[in-house]
Amino acid sequence: MDEERALLKCAFDYASEYLKSLPTRRAYPDERALNNLKIFNEPLPEGKSDPFDMLRMLHEFGGPATAPTMGGRYFGFVNGGAFPAALAAKWLASAWDQNAALYVMSPVVNKIEEVTEAWLIDLLALPAQTAAGFVSGTSTALAAGFVTARNSLLMRKGWDVSARGLFNAPELRVVAGEQAHSMVFKALAYIGLGRDRVEMVPADEQGRIVAEKIPPLDDNCLVIAQAGNVNSGAFDPLDDICNLAGSAGAWVHIDGAFGLWAAGSRNKRHLLHGYEKADSWALDAHKTLNAPYDSGVILCKDAAKLSAAMQSGGSYLPFTENQRDGSEFTPELGRRARAIEIWAILKTIGRAGVEQLVDQLCDRTQALAAALKDNGFTILNEVVFNQILVADKSPAATRSLLKNIQQGGRIWCGETIWRGDPAIRISVCSFATTPEDVELAVKAFCVARALR
Ligand SMILES: *Cc1c(COP(=O)(O)O)cnc(C)c1O
Repeated sequence: MDEERALLKCAFDYASEYLKSLPTRRAYPDERALNNLKIFNEPLPEGKSDPFDMLRMLHEFGGPATAPTMGGRYFGFVNGGAFPAALAAKWLASAWDQNAALYVMSPVVNKIEEVTEAWLIDLLALPAQTAAGFVSGTSTALAAGFVTARNSLLMRKGWDVSARGLFNAPELRVVAGEQAHSMVFKALAYIGLGRDRVEMVPADEQGRIVAEKIPPLDDNCLVIAQAGNVNSGAFDPLDDICNLAGSAGAWVHIDGAFGLWAAGSRNKRHLLHGYEKADSWALDAHKTLNAPYDSGVILCKDAAKLSAAMQSGGSYLPFTENQRDGSEFTPELGRRARAIEIWAILKTIGRAGVEQLVDQLCDRTQALAAALKDNGFTILNEVVFNQILVADKSPAATRSLLKNIQQGGRIWCGETIWRGDPAIRISVCSFATTPEDVELAVKAFCVARALR
């Protein structure tokens, strides 16, 4: 075996060993594993060293300090796992090391992006002409969506912001829910629409925009709605929002990072009622769909508007006629072939599999919430999707409960602040979470409480 093959084989063996260890692994690195990370603190090597030693170092000291999101007992943030088929496709495509930017750079990846775009539009029942840009995650998708909205709204006023910039441009208004994700404000900040001038719409006790409190809209408005609150999982009243915005000529962007996948389930689609009337959507494949990180999608109803906003205008770039060039729809030029993983999942589980996945995540969430409630814990949110907020008798009790859960290492979940008080936040986001994992999670809560 030549060295290249031997190295890949070695990485494969370590990876297999890692994946096999997941069922018995702690749900978060222990002190020793964290301490051992010191080994990475070394000066820049002056010369060569053995790549097999490098791999062994990663395996021995890196692996143990991972958050095991590929297992079924990790409930932190809204992370999700990765389907084996997607991981395998990613490995193969990594060996190809394609640049997804242009058809001429990678015919196969641009073909697969074209197919994946069509499949997503079909699966999520989006308007037929919708275009998809395959980006690193929802953060980038939000920025791309906002830039497209900004440019389109200003173009209607006769202002070509791509050419002239924002100085002296007609003012745009931005309207968003007070519970919008922090990345919404970050994206607004760096595209020049400002974080502090957003007209904030009050939210109800679940974190949903209160439609009656939306200020009068006009055709200078970018309205940002949310499908899936990162804490409660709640969905904004998208139909009301889209109707108000539609009659005013405003642009609606929906942050649907994990919640837009509800469109893939006949049982959950009602949560999104009216979403198809929006102008653009941000979606994460690395959350609910369980694609590997990093994988987000910007979807825009008007392909020409997204493409106009993402144009670099470099005439040296050989866009191919009658073929899809991925970078026409993304902020980046060079990109890895991340759509392949989305394609691999849709190819191997199909429409029925996505529905089953969404339903399974929601069912496990319901089961977990019900069992926690039966055991005397307080469920703070209406459990509508895959998120649960849990509290104990007092804020201090909630904090110490969570600390004991995390130290116990059977499951992992994190803390959030919900309506002013600490809450334990659970996200059931991995296909790998089984009913046994749900039982184990309930046990972990009870054991942690008994330790106090
Ligand atoms: C995760 C998330 C984001 C940020 O997405 P990234 O993929 O982490 O960039 C934005 N909005 C919502 C609602 C999210 O859940």
